[in-house]
Amino acid sequence: MTVSKILKQIIDSQTTKNVVIGQLGLGSITKLKQLITLLAHHKDKQLTLKLFVDISDTSGILLANEELTTLLCPQGSISLTAIEGCQRVIVSNCKLTIDFYLGQYLTQLQALPMVNDGFVDGWHVTSDADQTQLRQILFWQLAKLSKNDAQFSLDDTFTEVSQLELYTQAEQVGLYRYADNIPGNIQSGDEICFQERAAMRAQSRALQAPYPICSAAVTTHATCSNLGIAIIGGGVASACLALSLAERGQQVTLFCEDHALAQAASGNKQGAIYPLLTPDNNTLSQYFQQAYLFSLQRLKSLAAQGHPIDFDLCGVVHTGHDERSRKRVAKIINGQNWQPSIARAITAEQASSIAGLKIDDGGIFYPMGGWVSPQDFTRAAFNQAKAIAGASLKLNTQITDIHYKDGGWELTSNTERFGSFKALILANGKSITQFPQTQYLQATGFRGQVSHVPSRAKLSKLSSVLCAHGYMTPSNNTLHCLGASYVKNAPNTDYCPNEQVENLHKIQHSYVGQEWVEDIDVSGHSARVGVRMVTRDHAPMMGPAPDIDSIMTLYQDHQLTPQSRKYWQSHNAPVHQGLYVLGGLGSRGLSSGPLAAESLAAQICGDLMPISRDFVALLNPNRMWMRKLLKGKALEVGVEV
Ligand SMILES: Cc1cc2nc3c(=O)[nH]c(=O)nc-3n(C[C@H](O)[C@H](O)[C@H](O)COP(=O)(O)OP(=O)(O)OC[C@H]3O[C@@H](n4cnc5c(N)ncnc54)[C@H](O)[C@@H]3O)c2cc1C
Repeated sequence: MTVSKILKQIIDSQTTKNVVIGQLGLGSITKLKQLITLLAHHKDKQLTLKLFVDISDTSGILLANEELTTLLCPQGSISLTAIEGCQRVIVSNCKLTIDFYLGQYLTQLQALPMVNDGFVDGWHVTSDADQTQLRQILFWQLAKLSKNDAQFSLDDTFTEVSQLELYTQAEQVGLYRYADNIPGNIQSGDEICFQERAAMRAQSRALQAPYPICSAAVTTHATCSNLGIAIIGGGVASACLALSLAERGQQVTLFCEDHALAQAASGNKQGAIYPLLTPDNNTLSQYFQQAYLFSLQRLKSLAAQGHPIDFDLCGVVHTGHDERSRKRVAKIINGQNWQPSIARAITAEQASSIAGLKIDDGGIFYPMGGWVSPQDFTRAAFNQAKAIAGASLKLNTQITDIHYKDGGWELTSNTERFGSFKALILANGKSITQFPQTQYLQATGFRGQVSHVPSRAKLSKLSSVLCAHGYMTPSNNTLHCLGASYVKNAPNTDYCPNEQVENLHKIQHSYVGQEWVEDIDVSGHSARVGVRMVTRDHAPMMGPAPDIDSIMTLYQDHQLTPQSRKYWQSHNAPVHQGLYVLGGLGSRGLSSGPLAAESLAAQICGDLMPISRDFVALLNPNRMWMRKLLKGKALEVGVEV
């Protein structure tokens, strides 16, 4: 049996439009090719392939294989990297979604956030799978994720002994061999297996209770389309969300208060794109790596689809600017064995050669990073959403009130009323706290001014993004971007001459005594000001909007005791039904936003998100409060935590 044959059987026998196949092992490129070719003949189907792949030298080489990346995307927009966790590859406007789960199979399976029911139509094990990991506990995880009629197959190349052993293990969890299973002939023992699976799902869902995962409609793609989803936004977060929803066939309306898209934080001429790493590679750092890879894929595939986007993935050179920051940079790069395509250590000579300008410090090089025009990125994502599912845009429409009525959300502007919408997402940047339902979310506005500097003399040689005390980009349309100031709760977004000079000083301070720094001229007073919404833990906010009034009511009876901790661990945290938040993208929204958007779209549609349960908790908008409640600590709403 090969996975293509199984897929063909499933496609032929199933009425559902969406087919989900799980596979342990990467298999060969030839077989993946057969699969993709087969799918191309079934234009009415949408396939999700979940590949669980061990990180080893062999799989590392295969993942980096050019033939594979070209196969996944002929325009070469895919950059697979051997890091733990899920890397989602979207092919042909979501007709084929491939999730590469890298790491120990069991760890990856257990980390999956649980959607409502089993969703996998069939499992396949390739001969390159690590057989030492194929134990009963793993088979139960496969069963937990499976539909009741899901089946199981192996590559023909397994020995007879292995086949017997593996098929027997699969049978014990109610997964039957393809050829053996006669439809309708479910064996009586299976009922016990199905009950066990249901219990496992319930257990997984219970673990998620503090950080609930809520779909806006619990049905699958085919029937949950045309929900009518509203987004308030207009920046990169909302545009990427509109695209991810459009890829799921959803009707989206985007309400934007400005005259055009990307006029707020996403309106800069150039923004740097590179991951946020920490020496201990904590959950945030892990999220950023996956998110960064997803952003790169989104960006490159939108460009390959013909959308005009100014960008250059020329790499980012990150150095320190004083003793403390130099130590920090060294700690990051020496703290982990980073994949070289994510980050590598560089000497001062290498930094100079990469950047095209003299630099006296070594540091970190992010070879796949670079810069992008956030405005172009935003427009491209929205236009693609429009092209594939008719996403609509209401400009010059400031939403002043939102309220829930009769199972839907109604929106009000100064002149009109809109709705009702089954789901409403607030992706409105610095105004994320403007509505009563979200007023206590913990995100703070930091004003930032980006200076525009004419490209001239030595400075024009800059060939990678520089990041030290502030950042500087290679020139685009004869201008470099230099930034950015960082002012908390600033009263306005007017141009500020002092911040212009401050930006210059930061670069002078970072590259002391370099001749090329003298070419930086900020005297033209050309700049752009925006506000980024920053969370205290630097993670974006993605998920259902917490219902803080209900949390506070429950808190009256459940606080500060071991029992109260248990209560919050085991009860679904209250949320506003159908209301979601995508914001707090801070200073790295270009890297962190698109994956958060993709995950939210999946959540709203009841699909499996391409992120782990830990990431769901990391990003949940209720996390600041829940972390306290789960520790039995006091809660004060309206106070920064
Ligand atoms: C100075 C500066 C420099 C930066 N540099 C970088 C960088 O180098 N790299 C990087 O990755 N990130 C950078 N960022 C951060 C990045 O720009 C943001 O994280 C990202 O743009 C946020 O996108 P967003 O869609 O959440 O918000 P925004 O782009 O601010 O979009 C919010 C949208 O909501 C709309 N809106 C708000 N309220 C309403 C309402 N009531 N009704 C209707 N519409 C409404 C607005 O019109 C706007 O279009 C920088 C940010 C700033 C300010």
